[in-house]
Parts: sequence; C-alpha cells; structure tokens
Amino acid sequence: MSTPTTIVKTAIQYLPSYTDGRFIDDLSEITGMMFKEQGVICECTGRSTTKHIYNNKYSFKNQHCKSARHKKYLTNLSNNSEHILKTSILRRDEIRRLKIAVGKVDQRNHQLMNEIANKNTQMTRLKEQVDETNELISQQKEYHDTKYKTLEATHKNVRKENQQLKITNSNSTNKISKLETTNKELQDKIQIIDSIWNNFGQALGYEVEISHE
Ligand SMILES: [Zn+2]
Repeated sequence: MSTPTTIVKTAIQYLPSYTDGRFIDDLSEITGMMFKEQGVICECTGRSTTKHIYNNKYSFKNQHCKSARHKKYLTNLSNNSEHILKTSILRRDEIRRLKIAVGKVDQRNHQLMNEIANKNTQMTRLKEQVDETNELISQQKEYHDTKYKTLEATHKNVRKENQQLKITNSNSTNKISKLETTNKELQDKIQIIDSIWNNFGQALGYEVEISHE
C-alpha cells in the first residue's frame, strides 16, 4: 500500500505518449536514476496536492502501470483524445499569445530602462551644472566679502582721518579765538594808550594826532 506524500517541486510528472489516436504508456524518457533522485508522479493518483511519489521505475512500470486505475486513466485519455488535443491546441495558442504579450512588456520594460538611464544621465548633468553654479556663487560671495572688507577698512580710515581733521580744525578754531582775544586785548590797550597820550598832549598844549595804520 502506498501512503500519500506531499508533492515536492522537483518530482517529474509522468505523461503517456499519444500514438495512432490513442494514449499508451511510454517510460523511455524517464530513467531509473530520475525515479530515484527526483521521483515521479502520475496523474491517475488524483489531482489533489498530495500525490504518491514513485522512486522505482521497475515497480512503476510493472505494478502501477498495470493497475486497474492507471489502465482506466489511459482508456479515458484515449476516449477523450479529441477533446484533449483541442484543449492542447487552445493552450498552445494561449501560450503563444502570452509569449507575445510578455515580449511586448519586455520591450516596454527595455524602453523604460533606457528612459531611466537617459533621465539619470540628465540628472547627473544637471547636478554638475548646479555644482558649477554653486561654485560660481561661492566665488562671487568670496570676492564681494573681500571687496566689502577692503571698503570697510577704507571707510574706517577715512572716518579716522575725518575725526583727526575735525580735531585739528577745532584746535585751529581755538587758536584763532585765542588770537582774536589777544587782538582785542591789544586793541583795548592801544585805545587806553591813545587816550592817555591824548590827555597828556592836551595837558601840555599840543595838538595830538593819532593815526593807526
Ligand atoms: Zn497512473
């Protein structure tokens, strides 16, 4: 008795051959080694997810293939061969259509990959341009900073000079003011002397003529 085993993906699906309008057993393409290493499953054991895996080509050929269930399966296949062949043709057409569709998708995918590559190249170029512009801006900023500092220093010096000139000017004004005061004092003295001189002259009976040139 065989116990059901969970299908392993590597197991080979046994398919009978179609010859002269009927299905017959044909194990020529599955070796004993393939049975041993991968295992073989037969459709007649049911379509459920659990199928028996055969690991012995000899017992498969001489026991399973001679079982009533397998013989009935072959007979059914032969009776329905027309339908099976039609289905097979439909499936082949379907596969062909799918292949074409896959081809189109592949082509579109290729185009999109090219577009992405182009966009990436453009982005790299733009990034380079941005970097260049930033570098230029940075250089201009540096230039302006230097220029501003120079101008600031010059301005500071001019202000300093201006301040010194103001002080000098103030000193000069003070000197002039002092000189004016001195001048005024001298004038006052001269007036006093004139007056004394006049009085003195009159006392002595002279006509005194005072002239300041
Ligand atoms: Zn079978």
